[in-house]
Amino acid sequence: MSAKATTPPEKMMFQLTLRRRGISEQAVLRAMEEVPREAFVQERDRADAYRDSALGIACGQTISQPFVVAYMTEQLKLTKAHRVLEIGTGSGYQAAVLSRLAAHVVTIERFRTLADSARRLLEARGYHNVEVMLGDGFAVPEQLGRFDRIIVTAAMTELPEELVQRLEPAGILIAPVGPHHGVQTLVRVVRTATGFDRKELVDVRFVPALPGIAQQL
Ligand code: SAH
Repeated sequence: MSAKATTPPEKMMFQLTLRRRGISEQAVLRAMEEVPREAFVQERDRADAYRDSALGIACGQTISQPFVVAYMTEQLKLTKAHRVLEIGTGSGYQAAVLSRLAAHVVTIERFRTLADSARRLLEARGYHNVEVMLGDGFAVPEQLGRFDRIIVTAAMTELPEELVQRLEPAGILIAPVGPHHGVQTLVRVVRTATGFDRKELVDVRFVPALPGIAQQL
């Protein structure tokens, strides 16, 4: 069956925008097509779900701009064998996209409200290889071990050494690094045989990564 016949125009535009902005990996484009962003935004934003912009979610946080989600996902070079850590679950949208391309996703969120609603949503929608944890991405539980891929979706003023150390050999980490209320740079770190390769990619704007589990619900 052709999906195209039933694809609404705003979803066609969504795909087109991603391609035009340089997303070329078919598997990434397919994952972006498969995950319904409208399910992850607030009800009042449904009509804007396929616009290429960030939108507000509960707890004063945001669901990232689709292009940035696709770009970061592409940079991770995922395979179905990978175990992935996401810091900053938010709506759960990025985790859902990752789950289509990896074996397993662990995603950590510091707001209980967001962790609970993302967990419920992901379960209800059948993203069974995603595990949502309430926690602090600056203190990832030791027992989770190392990851093939790590993606941080909140801005860190600097990259914690403990986090890059959680990469498996040949692992890739991608994170927005920079001042909390300004422009940050997406940084990609690859674990090599001898150390770490660090590359700055593009400028982005993310909500701040803050330490500790949020006291506010
Ligand atoms: N990836 C999300 C967007 C994330 S917005 C999505 O697809 O919707 C950034 C999220 O990171 C916010 O929900 C914020 O509460 C969370 N966050 C900030 N600091 C954190 C930390 N130290 N540990 C875990 N989550 C954190």
